Amino acid sequence: MEINGSKAIGGALYISNCKFGNVLAFRDFIMKEFNNIPFEKKEIVSKIEEYIDTKSHIVGEIGQKDAKNLLIIEDLKNIKDTIISNPLEDPFKSIDKYVNKYCEKINKIGIELDDVKTFIVEKFPKPFENAGGTAINFDVADKRKYGIEEGIYFKEDRILPYSTQILASHEIIHRAASMKHPHLLARGIEDGICDYVGILYICREIIGSDACKNLVFHLRFRHHPGSDWNRYTTNLQQAAVLYINYGFESLIEIIKEGRILMEDVEKKLFLGKIDEIPIIKKGNWIEDITNFSYRILTYEKTLVVSPLALLIAKNINSGDNIKSFFRDNNIKEREGAKAIEELYETHFVLISDGEKITCDRSKLYLDAGVMRYFID
Ligand SMILES: [Zn+2]
Repeated sequence: MEINGSKAIGGALYISNCKFGNVLAFRDFIMKEFNNIPFEKKEIVSKIEEYIDTKSHIVGEIGQKDAKNLLIIEDLKNIKDTIISNPLEDPFKSIDKYVNKYCEKINKIGIELDDVKTFIVEKFPKPFENAGGTAINFDVADKRKYGIEEGIYFKEDRILPYSTQILASHEIIHRAASMKHPHLLARGIEDGICDYVGILYICREIIGSDACKNLVFHLRFRHHPGSDWNRYTTNLQQAAVLYINYGFESLIEIIKEGRILMEDVEKKLFLGKIDEIPIIKKGNWIEDITNFSYRILTYEKTLVVSPLALLIAKNINSGDNIKSFFRDNNIKEREGAKAIEELYETHFVLISDGEKITCDRSKLYLDAGVMRYFID
């Protein structure tokens, strides 16, 4: 499949520090905006700069549409920096190189992984052809049951620079976990452990901490109410609890022990019986990851607001007269009033008496990076 510059932007946003609330919605939107640009760093950067320049000029008063453009521009600046400061590699050619690097590291921590095969496919093999996501690890049980050759399968049209190579490190831990009891389902806490040991431990040492943390954050804290993908957030938080209490040593030991132990651990966590978890080894905490773990355990996932609401929250203060604020800040009155209603009635981060802002807590959420915006 042809690689292009739009895919580089679509992959770079996963590892960038951005304020969008739904990585998939943002990715799909932005990739369409940058359709058909060449896969060349200088070209991509100059197209982003051109886009930022064009969208920065606002004619008339600011409504939702302009607010959306302004916030996208802020995120695009970070995405541009990501592209400037990271090597741009064709993921179709580099996936195996990364998989081999991860294998070496996994062998060093005492998990034997023999030759890991990778496949780039148009569709996942039957009966998984409708499965979502970018990559799936198929193990020996899948071979026995469905005749699928063992290995990590990547869906061709989902492969992106920057992000897919990190996702491969999650899949490779599924592979390690499948060495024992492959007949048991690879899900639940195993996904959280794959994020921790694969992405935040193994891959972090190769790709860098910020990129890995940003990807885990955007993927697992994607705002999508009602979706069953929310379980990945729970699984990540389960692994965070284990990590905080017992360190990477315990997570690595759990992978070595396999899926029977994983099921037991997950059940004990659900029941709140952490003291009964049979942990064999304890140790190996990394300060940066410990801090990130507290962040993901306490993160407010639902504070995703409309673009204009976010822009208003940034600039309005307790005591401000609303009409004067709109006038002084060049904001459309009707759309602005609706956005304030949203901040008050839906999210309860400020209070308005209809004329004035009487109370404002939104700055706390903005400063802590938990207030994000939706674009759909
Ligand atoms: Zn997984």
